Amino acid sequence: MTDVLFVNATLLTGARCGPGALAVRDGRIAGLWQADRAEDAAGEAQRAFPQAAHHDLGGKLLLAGGIDAHVHFREPGGTAKEDLASGSEAALKGGVTSFVDMPNTTPPTVSLAALREKRERAAAVRSHWGFHLGATNDNLAEIRAALQGEDAALFGGIKVFMGSSTGNLLVDRDAVLEEIFALRGKPVLIHSEDEGLVRAGLEAARQRYGEAIPFSAHPAIRSREACLRSTEKALDMAVRLGTRLHILHVSTAEEAALIREAKKSHPGITAETSANYLWFTDKDYERLGGAVKCNPAVKTAADRDALLEAFADGTLDTLGSDHAPHLPEEKRRPYASCPSGIPSVRHSLPVILTLARRHGIPLTRVAAAFSENIARILGIEGRGRLETGAFADLAVVDPDESFRAHGADYKCGWTPYEGETLYGAVKDVYVDGLPVIVDGRPTADRRPGAPLVFHPVSR
Ligand SMILES: [Zn+2]
Repeated sequence: MTDVLFVNATLLTGARCGPGALAVRDGRIAGLWQADRAEDAAGEAQRAFPQAAHHDLGGKLLLAGGIDAHVHFREPGGTAKEDLASGSEAALKGGVTSFVDMPNTTPPTVSLAALREKRERAAAVRSHWGFHLGATNDNLAEIRAALQGEDAALFGGIKVFMGSSTGNLLVDRDAVLEEIFALRGKPVLIHSEDEGLVRAGLEAARQRYGEAIPFSAHPAIRSREACLRSTEKALDMAVRLGTRLHILHVSTAEEAALIREAKKSHPGITAETSANYLWFTDKDYERLGGAVKCNPAVKTAADRDALLEAFADGTLDTLGSDHAPHLPEEKRRPYASCPSGIPSVRHSLPVILTLARRHGIPLTRVAAAFSENIARILGIEGRGRLETGAFADLAVVDPDESFRAHGADYKCGWTPYEGETLYGAVKDVYVDGLPVIVDGRPTADRRPGAPLVFHPVSR
């Protein structure tokens, strides 16, 4: 492979956004130059790599490819909606070069055998890939075994549904939760909604509306109280037991405030939000109906604003798309039989860049949330960072170029972002230094990506 120099780039990391140049050799980042003027960085790079081919980025952003640790690619069991190959192609178009898939497939990934089977299915996808292991009320022995020895490098975190969602993986026995929160070496990732309150909310809506429950009732059914009760409990338990806790898709102002406080007493607490909660509000249920139904529910404009603030100040550490596709006909069903979930992996980064532009959120925060922080939380070494020696998983993004979002980018053919004007067109994407997207289009190069290796994490 010839050496490649990216010059006239705006290098974007969690620490800095400014002019620079970057060299790639043998699939890895071989050098980084930052300067006040792009031509100074280019000059230095040129002297260090005189034989390299030049890519002039014309000032576009060059950032580490995303690590989306919250996707539901539906394989096995739901491949009419999505599969590992189609999901990873959509991810690459959105600048996401690594994904970690959730365990609520059919069958669920709740054993090492199921994990190994999924790994075989992923062998040909073009992005890098990994999986989380799911917890249930009765697979603790399996999780403990998986944490021993070499098998532990095979999965990202332990996913716990404290409230049930698609797939009905649920841990609702407190004694089991305590044991999971006491485990070491992996982060515990939680879907945080109180199952009892969610069930009561649905029952109350059935009493009131019969079968004609409006979609606008979703945030009352899967209520903020359900989120709060569960998150309070998880934070208390994590502080008490020293858990490495990562709270997924935070959706309320109150949870953001609780997490901000809890982090002060326990550094092992981190949190994620998704573009869905930063873009949509409860006003969108009328317009979009089932298309915007996801769990937890999208809540009020005040919640969205508080979440944007928490994203900007780093309380919310990571961005996960929670890409959760269903078929269009399923999403057109009445409320109670309409499955929850939003296809979004291809649009997650442009949505955040659009919001950053609109609200003045520093782009360094986007880079930290899109790749750096989640790499650290999951113990992924050598990816998710622009640094010498790291793998050259890269995204070239034009922050000033807008485009319309289209559901055609997804196997399921739809998205609630349809028609939205988004800034931050993903132009080129590199996986281990090889171009897989050029000017927004997939290349013919079919080389498979690599399995992510997850190192043990402490607090
Ligand atoms: Zn999810």
